[in-house]
Amino acid sequence: MNRIPGALRWLALAVLAGCAAGAPGPDSGSAPAPRAGAAAGAALEVRYLANEGFLVDGAGRRVLVDALFGAGIPGYAAVAAQLRPALEGGEGDWGGVGLALATHDHPDHFDPGAAIRFLEANPEAVFVSTPQARARLGAGRPELAARFRAVLPAAGEVERLSIGGVEIAVLNLHHGHREPPVENLGFVVTLGGLRFLHFGDTEATLEDFEPYLPLLADPELALLPFWFLASEWRAAMVRDRIRPRWIVAAHTPLPTAPATYFARWSSYENLLRVMTAAFPDAILPPAAGESWTFRAGE
Ligand SMILES: [Zn+2]
Repeated sequence: MNRIPGALRWLALAVLAGCAAGAPGPDSGSAPAPRAGAAAGAALEVRYLANEGFLVDGAGRRVLVDALFGAGIPGYAAVAAQLRPALEGGEGDWGGVGLALATHDHPDHFDPGAAIRFLEANPEAVFVSTPQARARLGAGRPELAARFRAVLPAAGEVERLSIGGVEIAVLNLHHGHREPPVENLGFVVTLGGLRFLHFGDTEATLEDFEPYLPLLADPELALLPFWFLASEWRAAMVRDRIRPRWIVAAHTPLPTAPATYFARWSSYENLLRVMTAAFPDAILPPAAGESWTFRAGE
């Protein structure tokens, strides 16, 4: 908990591997009113899995984002192999997930086998991702594919979904102009009046973001890939235009990743310094299994 800077320490009551590690800190004075739409006392409970994978609980609903994948790609964290069957199978702590989201079909965010096992084991659950991801399911299991919603709004447009009491605004945020193109979604998810953002691996420009910024402004929580904290224009956009109450920075390469991953910042340590300087209260990098409770009005 010590590496989470001061002000956040009492806001994010961290639970590491199930052990309460944080305690309310200094007197916060009178708490500000919750934002419009958020019930007093509403909270998002968030657990970090790996890379950009999270489990988010709120208002009695459970959502996985970019959490159902396999061994991932070298240099980035993956969900431990021994944990995956329980996660995909909805066992124990991992039960009751009604919605799984995947931003794009890359092996550190999505795996078709994991998606199929998840849908088999969670018969009420719905999966939402791109047409590219859905195509990876193949034609063999139409009864499962029926619960896999492929969504890809046009650039700058939004598709709104309501699934099991969870409101999702789906954005088209491209993954760079690659050949072949990689479809990548942004998600604005509302649970019990609290909003969180997840952008996947987008390389969208400020111009691409412009039409989405009113929708993205002032969320409770942003689960951001690290480059949104490490690049100047993105950091300025997050700070001045999006203004999340809390930030967790994910997809940071592992300290053991090849030095080339950090060439732009010269080292892993320097990358962390750059991000922390830009966002002193952001949680970065989260540890596998780390979790937080983000309460409205705090
Ligand atoms: Zn990717």
